[in-house]
Amino acid sequence: MSNPRVAIFDFACCEGCQLQVVNLEEDILSLIALVDPVEWREAMSDHSDSYDIAIIEGSITRPEDVDRLKTIRERAKILIALGACATMGGINKLKNNFDLKEVRQAVYGAAAGMAHLNTEPTRALDEIVKVDFKVHGCPIDNRELGAIIRCLIMGKTPVIPTYPVCVECKKNEVVCRYEFNEICLGPVTRAGCGARCPSRGFWCFGCRGYAEEPNVAAASDVMDHYGKTVEDLKSRLTLFVGQQEFPP
Ligand code: SF4
Ligand code: SF4
Ligand code: SF4
Repeated sequence: MSNPRVAIFDFACCEGCQLQVVNLEEDILSLIALVDPVEWREAMSDHSDSYDIAIIEGSITRPEDVDRLKTIRERAKILIALGACATMGGINKLKNNFDLKEVRQAVYGAAAGMAHLNTEPTRALDEIVKVDFKVHGCPIDNRELGAIIRCLIMGKTPVIPTYPVCVECKKNEVVCRYEFNEICLGPVTRAGCGARCPSRGFWCFGCRGYAEEPNVAAASDVMDHYGKTVEDLKSRLTLFVGQQEFPP
């Protein structure tokens, strides 16, 4: 059986998630041995319109992006959204809170009227096409991407955590950021990063999006216990999960 043909594409993003793939270092060799990379602008010059798995980084911010995304979807058997920009719009979606003409003017100044700088409200991939799997995070955890690809090659369904970051935090025996009078989004954010931020002394800012069915009542109890309010929690929901309703 031949290896699946894999193509990696990018839309509006900082390419930090693709960099995480490159950062797999020696593990990238064992991963590449399992697949046949046919297109990846950041790492190779080859181009192909024939692939089994499309991995897409970035969000959709321009009218012409929509047709390109739909074409990729038609060609791929499996589509994987790579990183918060692709899975939920990411940091790019912050612009949706402002007048788009003003945003364009602020970013591009005198050049704002140029046709190729056209813009529209940011959308995640699954707001336009069907997404089969999501690799969460800003940036992604490259080991999670490796595990998802290996599962797909073996014909298994990847298991992506649905529980909140607090679970991983407790497993790592990390002192809760609330003990430092901080507000952390761990109680409502999807785990899978190994509680990367609290483990390094920083509150979770929700880059993996909401946990499935987050325990809002328990989060509220945590707020009460530490003399905070749900409004305090909402004030931290601006960067990522605030793009969704709270409670979700
Ligand atoms: S999810 Fe974050 S790291 Fe990844 S491309 Fe978007 S902004 Fe960059
Ligand atoms: S609130 Fe934040 S720091 Fe506290 S346990 Fe949960 S994830 Fe860890
Ligand atoms: S701790 Fe929170 S912000 Fe940090 S990587 Fe994990 S989900 Fe993202």
